[in-house]
Amino acid sequence: MARNKYDMDEILEDSFDVSQLKRLAGYIKPYKNKMLLVIILLLSSSALTMLIPIFFKQIMDSYIPDKDMGMIILMCVFTTLIALYTAITWRFKIQTMSIIGQSIIHSIRTDIFCHLQELPFSYYDDRPHGKIQVRVVNYVNSLSDLLSNGIVNTITDLCNLIFIIIFMLICDVRLTLICLCGLPLLALVVVFIKKKQRRAWQIQSNKQSNLNAYIAESINGIRVTQSFVREDENTDIFNNLSQGYRKAWMHAVRFNFTMGPSVDIISAITTSFVYVLGIKWMLMPDATLTVGTIIAFTAYIGRFWAPINTLAGFYNSLLTAISYLERIFETIDEPVLVKDAPNAVSMPPIKGTVEFRDVCFSYEEGHRILNKINFTTKEGETYAFVGPTGAGKSTIVNLISRFYNVDSGQILIDGTDISTVTIRSLREQMGVMMQDSFIFSGTIMDNIRYGNREATDEQVIQAAKTVCAHDFISAMENGYYTEVNERGSRLSAGQRQLISFARALLADPKILILDEATSSIDTETEILLQKGLNRLLEGRTSFIIAHRLSTIKNADCIMYIDKGGILERGSHDELLAQKGEYYNLYMSQFDFLKE
Ligand code: ADP
Repeated sequence: MARNKYDMDEILEDSFDVSQLKRLAGYIKPYKNKMLLVIILLLSSSALTMLIPIFFKQIMDSYIPDKDMGMIILMCVFTTLIALYTAITWRFKIQTMSIIGQSIIHSIRTDIFCHLQELPFSYYDDRPHGKIQVRVVNYVNSLSDLLSNGIVNTITDLCNLIFIIIFMLICDVRLTLICLCGLPLLALVVVFIKKKQRRAWQIQSNKQSNLNAYIAESINGIRVTQSFVREDENTDIFNNLSQGYRKAWMHAVRFNFTMGPSVDIISAITTSFVYVLGIKWMLMPDATLTVGTIIAFTAYIGRFWAPINTLAGFYNSLLTAISYLERIFETIDEPVLVKDAPNAVSMPPIKGTVEFRDVCFSYEEGHRILNKINFTTKEGETYAFVGPTGAGKSTIVNLISRFYNVDSGQILIDGTDISTVTIRSLREQMGVMMQDSFIFSGTIMDNIRYGNREATDEQVIQAAKTVCAHDFISAMENGYYTEVNERGSRLSAGQRQLISFARALLADPKILILDEATSSIDTETEILLQKGLNRLLEGRTSFIIAHRLSTIKNADCIMYIDKGGILERGSHDELLAQKGEYYNLYMSQFDFLKE
């Protein structure tokens, strides 16, 4: 997939795949019995309500002329009881359907989230994170109305419609036929706007996604924005996106507004015909039509168009929901490109030999980043990658943890091809410290324990002591129980790195990867850390990417990466003696320090 940005719309599907609705039905299935109960209760209440016009017809045509007060009171009592029963069933319906709707939404949201946990880095590389969030939160929420009310109301209303037509037919066949004439007119309206309406909601969901992507990006980048005084430009971009969303929404909602008034107009026309013709037929000699019948019939007309109005509303929310469903299921169906092979086995306990055999890799087709990389490490030794920015150092270490699949070649750990073992068993035995030492919201204790959920408080503290993080943690107001926020903005870059060192130590991995992990630690901390780091590296095969060559001078082997390959390799002294690229790099840093 091409990289998407906040100002790029996602591709719109032309035709809706009905199987998406079947999948939605799969989520509804576990609740079908409860929904059936709700539908039965609603139908019973509507069937009873249907009797009320008949009561009035009887009152008008018989009990008033007969001055039968007893029957009139009885009819009024029945009417009140029916109203009470209806209120109770509606209360039950709202409560039950809200619970069911929210449970379904929870299941869909859980499925997306679980799937997102499995999707490889490449998925996240290709689109703004805000566009992913909007699917998990907003799009799923937008199904709420459809699931809580739409489905049950539709089934009930369809049944109601049949009841009403029967009652209307009982009252008068000719007047019923006049009413039914309105339906083909409504069908014409639906056919006319359907395609445009669907496309309008798809566009609206795209604009919402763009807006969300930009908001998420702006919040993440707020420090840079404020340092470069870019607030006004950002507000302009935001305004454009927000206006785009507003326009798309207004355009889409216009179609929804078409349905309600169309129903009203058609119902007004048919009702007028019913009155005019009904009164005309009533005034004819030998007329069988009574005033009571016309009054009862007009009450039914109101009830006839009410469910049609709700059905039209359901149709609107269905089309809206479909545009969200497409995106939701698209995410759930996103292929997990980095996954266990069908017969993958568990990675045996790692000793620590890593071998790259002719490894080629590209992020995007036709743009090769690594070309036939070959190297073999020994157990427990430290390997460092150096080279210009963008040379592919991080890419190499990302491949060891199988965050991406190689294009060709093999990566073997202790002689086992990592593509033949389960990803979990592989990563569980590795410690990775990325360039960005991510801190999760919670206590410092929890953040370190992320490396090993089973670790006791004492083990956490011991790990922090080993990597020299204990002193600064103890100096914080609540020590290890100090709450830090997401991304650890309360901590300095160096402190964040020390925490991630402790986290890695606690995991006790056999293979350790430090991606530029020491680059932003100040000299004082660096000296402290070097001691801890040496302990951390003990007994593990380690790969270090560091810009400061002083950090990696003691590595067993340094590989100079550039132009998709390993240009030089050897110990610090060997590489200096070669007077090649590494020598130049070292001298340039040395000169820089002298200046
Ligand atoms: P280094 O760690 O040596 O600075 P990287 O391994 O991060 O370099 O990147 C190597 C090359 O791959 C660079 O040209 C970079 O632009 C590109 N690259 C890195 N990550 C991605 C990605 N997720 N998608 C596409 N290209 C990428």
